[in-house]
Amino acid sequence: LQLTFAILKPHIVKHPIALEEIRNIILTSNFKIVRSKRKTIAMREAEEFYAEHRDKFFFNRLVTFMTSGPSDLLILAKENAIVDWRRLMGPTKAYKALFEAPDSIRGRFGLSDTRNATHGSDSEESARREIGVFFPDFDID
Ligand code: ATP
Ligand code: MG
Repeated sequence: LQLTFAILKPHIVKHPIALEEIRNIILTSNFKIVRSKRKTIAMREAEEFYAEHRDKFFFNRLVTFMTSGPSDLLILAKENAIVDWRRLMGPTKAYKALFEAPDSIRGRFGLSDTRNATHGSDSEESARREIGVFFPDFDID
């Protein structure tokens, strides 16, 4: 069993139909929701979470968007959770998601490269770090 960390980003949490649909995708894909909390991410948390992107041109718009309203923060569990969740999400970039994976979550619900609907950890090491940012009391071992 593997854990991954997912975020349903602010534009999704604001949209009841998209939110319900993504929650359905999660459950019908056999993920277990191990922890879930809705919260508006603080600026210092967003900056820590996305530290690897600090020098990118989109960093400011990314952290501004991610702190703009409540997100759903989820710890998901399943065999191959990391790869399976990223496959369900589809490509990061909106035009790729739309043209190459129109049935993926980002293909269906992504609005732009920044507002791309969801986050998913890219490795076990990232999952561990990211869970620690938002669920510091969660005992991962
Ligand atoms: P995530 O880490 O959110 O699961 P990812 O690993 O596919 O997505 P990263 O390269 O880690 O993508 O980028 C992190 C986030 O930064 C993306 O989810 C997106 O919101 C934003 N982002 C990435 N590339 C761009 C870009 N070119 N323009 C605007 N925003 C971007
Ligand atoms: Mg990433």
